[in-house]
Amino acid sequence: MTNKIATQLKAVALLSGGLDSRLAVRLVQEQGIEVTALNYITPFCTCTAKSSCRLEAKKAAEEYGVKLKVFYVFEDFIEIIRNPKHGHGRGLNPCLDCRIMMFKNAKKYMDEIGASFLVTGEVLGERPMSQRPDAIGTIERESGLSGLIVRPLSAKLMEPSLPERQGLVDRSRFMDISGRSRKPQIKMAEKLGMNDYPCAAGGCLLTDKDFAARLKSLLEISPNPTRNDIMLLKVGRQRFMDDTRIVIGRDEKENFRIKTLARTGDILMEARDAVGPITLIRGEVTGDIVKKAAQLTIGYGKAKDEPSAIVSYFSVGDESAAKQIEIINS
Ligand code: SF4
Repeated sequence: MTNKIATQLKAVALLSGGLDSRLAVRLVQEQGIEVTALNYITPFCTCTAKSSCRLEAKKAAEEYGVKLKVFYVFEDFIEIIRNPKHGHGRGLNPCLDCRIMMFKNAKKYMDEIGASFLVTGEVLGERPMSQRPDAIGTIERESGLSGLIVRPLSAKLMEPSLPERQGLVDRSRFMDISGRSRKPQIKMAEKLGMNDYPCAAGGCLLTDKDFAARLKSLLEISPNPTRNDIMLLKVGRQRFMDDTRIVIGRDEKENFRIKTLARTGDILMEARDAVGPITLIRGEVTGDIVKKAAQLTIGYGKAKDEPSAIVSYFSVGDESAAKQIEIINS
């Protein structure tokens, strides 16, 4: 007598924590398929500590009883931002290459755990760069997942995937959503009794034109930035001069953040007698750069109305050797 043990069908799902990916997980899970969720975090996510994608994905995974694996992407992603095969979107967002990178990683994970297909919350036409039919085809092909991606939210508008054709999943229980309206998703969420989900999934700073310009300037002087370099890019006013960057705080909170992010060798400065910004210099420090940074420190502070002002500064790690420079306001 043979002893056959039925194994549950496994799938891997991309779970950002937003409504679309939550729905996709639920629609597949409902069919008795064991789902493992993957969450990708980049340093460009716009989420905050209080409301992070990771936190939302964790909440969703706990609620639906699925295992969650979180991947932090950085070095490979920076390389992709610098040289995307498929170009950038309206900012410095290499969406196609970014999705290919994530999907390739997901495929590796699928192979490791013996999952039969990948599930995503993609909606046809919702995102201009990566969710057009031709882009979807490119991403599938180049990630090695042709035919193996199930998109429960738009499945009925697309060619059936392999798992749908093989009857591993019931296509008739999927949806036919396209475009940017959220109404069908909200209706389906109500039907499935899902009432605790964030309004929208987190955004990506790379699509923001101002941030993209900052990042471009940073990559010109520092092609291999550290995480700290990127975090610093999100704070204050930024000036790039030759091989040096100057960061000027805009309020108390930013001043504090700049001090927290300062590394050994950075210069920190502030006006001696007035309330104003904390300024950080990172890179080559010349007399001209110190003078420029001091002028900016005064120019954005209350001392700008005085005939002259003193700026104190020191090199982080060598606080005892603090110096001063006088700025004459014209
Ligand atoms: S918006 Fe950002 S995170 Fe999303 S696919 Fe594009 S580059 Fe990647």
